[in-house]
Amino acid sequence: MNLNTLTIDTVRSALAEGTATATSLALSFFDAIQKQDGEIGAFLTLSKERALIRAAEIDGLVKDGKPLPPLAGVPVAIKDVMVTRGVRTTAGSRILDNFVPPYDSTAVARLEQAGAVALGKLNCDEFAMGSSNENSAYHPVRNPRDTSRVPGGSSGGAAAAVAAGMAVATLGSDTGGSIRQPASFCGVVGMMPTYGRVSRYGLIAFASSLDHIGPLTHSVKDAALVLRTIAGRDPMDSTSADVPVPDYVDPMDSTSADVPVPDYVVELEKPIKGLRVGVAKEYFGEGLDPEVRGSVEAAIDRLRDLGCEIVKVSLPHTEYAIPTYYIVATAEASANLARFDGVRYGYRSKKTRSLSEMYQRTRDEAFGTEVKRRIMLGTYALSAGYYDAYYLKAQKVRALLTRDFDEAFRKVDVIATPTSPTAAFRLGEKVNDPLAMYLADIYTVTADLAGIPGISVPCGQTKENLPIGLQILGKHFDEATVLRLAHAYETGVRE
Ligand code: GLN
Repeated sequence: MNLNTLTIDTVRSALAEGTATATSLALSFFDAIQKQDGEIGAFLTLSKERALIRAAEIDGLVKDGKPLPPLAGVPVAIKDVMVTRGVRTTAGSRILDNFVPPYDSTAVARLEQAGAVALGKLNCDEFAMGSSNENSAYHPVRNPRDTSRVPGGSSGGAAAAVAAGMAVATLGSDTGGSIRQPASFCGVVGMMPTYGRVSRYGLIAFASSLDHIGPLTHSVKDAALVLRTIAGRDPMDSTSADVPVPDYVDPMDSTSADVPVPDYVVELEKPIKGLRVGVAKEYFGEGLDPEVRGSVEAAIDRLRDLGCEIVKVSLPHTEYAIPTYYIVATAEASANLARFDGVRYGYRSKKTRSLSEMYQRTRDEAFGTEVKRRIMLGTYALSAGYYDAYYLKAQKVRALLTRDFDEAFRKVDVIATPTSPTAAFRLGEKVNDPLAMYLADIYTVTADLAGIPGISVPCGQTKENLPIGLQILGKHFDEATVLRLAHAYETGVRE
């Protein structure tokens, strides 16, 4: 069994046919992790005991001939910003080095209820702040396609684990591009759902109005299956939306391996002929690598060949997206990270004589440089006298960016863009230049600011064999169309 390309369907049929058990699969994945992860660095913590207990439960269901839940036996792994009961959760930070949460985040709980086997927790930039995974307080992640390169960030571990065959699917989080950009750098699929589609309960907050949880997988169908599992209203998160979740993939198809696939059409299989695909010049401007441009333009031509109508649209405020994002995100981060004070969680400085000195030293000793930079920027933007000039202004521009999309989506069903202006860069190339690093998200932050869904699907590679990603953005809560188009593109299905 080739772990590098294993999909949810293959796992399900292997279990049903008896060619693998959930336990043997989990053990093969732990083996693959053991062999490769010394070099890649995707995992921070393994949860072997928990995984094997879950796998044994699934094997029990198979043995008793019981119906299998949709993700039965599927080896998954979780970005270390989602809390897991009894399993160390660090957010990539020293400040949470020894933090063992007392509860599960909703997304993780839903995955496990659906039968998935969680192998462990994935490396990421500290508090999800970064675009290369080099801001992890532990160690960087290397891109499995070329280990001298970064995997992207901040969900670098989540993308690398799938790309290297160390998990079938992973959960990442996207605040400014952190699912889609690493997916594009590592040559896997990464989906950011609409804001509110997936509960953030148990997600360690970076910027609460921008944080989204979503899947990274080998195929669009797998992304749909995982999203279907984790999506939907959760009473524990008041911003989770009470919007029905469509069956992106036929529920019958995913309930039990031996149920025949019914012949009615499901979202992914609906025809794409006539779908209107918007192309905005603002996403093809200065700074776009020519090879990336070529590949994405070819992908758009292919969508035309598949029966889509390509329509020019304009998103005139795009140039303000990065500055707007870095005001809003840092402002929210500065407030969210106030809770790490040495009292309630994780690390506490020992060398202190007073309470305020304890706060200061704890934060000084245990936060990394980028996190401190953002707390300072955010505190500044929110401070009296600057609030109107920065934070309020940024919120107004955010509204304009959202309006750009609303207007474009009157004319088109989706918008196609490059995911990132370049392919994976080298480790060390941008670490000392935060501004250059921030620009890696120039095509992704807009969707986070507007709260719309987006996916990155592999669409080619550079001469140096580095993957390139095509980004497809959709209307609020219209993941179905985004997934459908991405699936048709990936499988080359006509009409
Ligand atoms: N790279 C962006 C940042 O550093 C986005 C991070 C994210 O999406 N979590 O803020």
